Amino acid sequence: MPSAQILNVDDYVPGRYARTRLLKQAGYTVAEAGTGAEALNFINREHPDVVLLDINLPDISGLEVCQKIKSEPATSNTAVLQISASMTQSHHQVEGLNSGADGYLVEPVDPSVLLATIRALLRARQAEDALRRSNDDLRHFAYMVSHEMTEPLRMITSYTQLIANRYQGRLDPDADEFLSFITSGAARMKNFLGDLLSYSHAVNAERRFHRCSTEVILAAALSNLELQIKETGANIERDPLPDVIGDDTQITHVFQNLISNALKYRREEVPTIHIGAKAEGDMCRFSISDNGVGIDPKYFEQIFTIFKRLHGRDVPGTGIGLALCKRIIEAHGGQIGVESQPDVGSKFFFTLPKA
Ligand code: ADP
Repeated sequence: MPSAQILNVDDYVPGRYARTRLLKQAGYTVAEAGTGAEALNFINREHPDVVLLDINLPDISGLEVCQKIKSEPATSNTAVLQISASMTQSHHQVEGLNSGADGYLVEPVDPSVLLATIRALLRARQAEDALRRSNDDLRHFAYMVSHEMTEPLRMITSYTQLIANRYQGRLDPDADEFLSFITSGAARMKNFLGDLLSYSHAVNAERRFHRCSTEVILAAALSNLELQIKETGANIERDPLPDVIGDDTQITHVFQNLISNALKYRREEVPTIHIGAKAEGDMCRFSISDNGVGIDPKYFEQIFTIFKRLHGRDVPGTGIGLALCKRIIEAHGGQIGVESQPDVGSKFFFTLPKA
């Protein structure tokens, strides 16, 4: 990628000049900065592909500059190659890489090694960009498909309903049966599109993290599930729940999906569900245990992938719920998992940052 733009940051003018000349000869477009502040200004404005970053700068240290670049979503995909003549020990390199750098070279750097390292960083960046574009396209595709299909489906449902209301019993028995197939097929499709839309919203949504009460969140989730709870006669027990930092709408999805599954995948007996919470360092660990059908340990990971279901059409579902929960929890910096014993019950757990 010879047209790539490189920002060469160094306060030692002769060294910076020599490096700029080498890079220009190799076909790159090169800009220069002599301080950390100048570098950050340029990066925010111009978004160079690679930043060569001296660690010892007169104002802000190169480590801090790197942390700033990597923590800003708009600049986080800039490749940063740190270079130092004075901080040459292994632990300096470790600190540099821990600050988010993509590489760390120690002076004297052989020109051919510098150019090869830049080429390697650009290859990785190109692959990342391609992956990001393809993910964006897929997300957009899923969103458009579910959005665009909702309206025609509404038409199918309402006209089938109209035909059923007007002609039920006046056509032959086969026709009545066919109408009921259309209605139940359309209902399944509506659920599927609804879940797909929630998934794509959760993936694309801007998250607004703030302090929220999981007591209030749980109350909202239980109220949305009121009908299912009444139908099953479930007993729901709970620990006192703490406040967390997160997006309350999204966390409601998590509680609702997990409790809905605990009600859905039940055995003959009345479902008993326990909602637990305990502190774990900076995080709070929540759990939702049931006395349902349980899950074979070989599926513990697979059930969190989108569309994976262990049940057939006899139990309604789309295979999107747990994938959605995983997305949401990981976006909050937490983890989600399951422990279970077939024919005894399951315990889903997830962590969220404590308030
Ligand atoms: P859905 O419920 O729509 O099928 P999910 O992503 O919520 O999709 O769950 C994926 C699969 O994991 C389910 O099809 C089911 O087989 C299994 N599963 C989820 N929760 C439970 C549970 N509490 N008990 C037993 N199996 C479960």
